[in-house]
Amino acid sequence: MRKSKCHLKKNDKVKVMTGKDAGKIGKVIRVDRKKQRLLVEHINVVKKHTRPSAQTGQGGILESEAPIHWSNVMLMCSKCVTPARIRMKRLEDGKKIRTCSRCGEIQDA
Ligand SMILES: [Zn+2]
Repeated sequence: MRKSKCHLKKNDKVKVMTGKDAGKIGKVIRVDRKKQRLLVEHINVVKKHTRPSAQTGQGGILESEAPIHWSNVMLMCSKCVTPARIRMKRLEDGKKIRTCSRCGEIQDA
């Protein structure tokens, strides 16, 4: 099995590369490392039909985000404002940081 690594984190700005939301940009809400899936704000929104409930007395359509595979998105570089490949860089103190492979901008605030 191909080993897949994800350097994306919560609150990252990502661009969707494939699927019905291709080209859209959203913020990562949740990262599921086991399933390799991300929940991205306003991306892959699915409509759920709900039955009328006793509490509210009404049913309807509920919209919520569905997780998408992290290989379908790319991190948006804050500097060159393009989808960037992430390069891991180790600092002198052993700390790992994420940098844009294009402009070298550090992606961790
Ligand atoms: Zn960049």
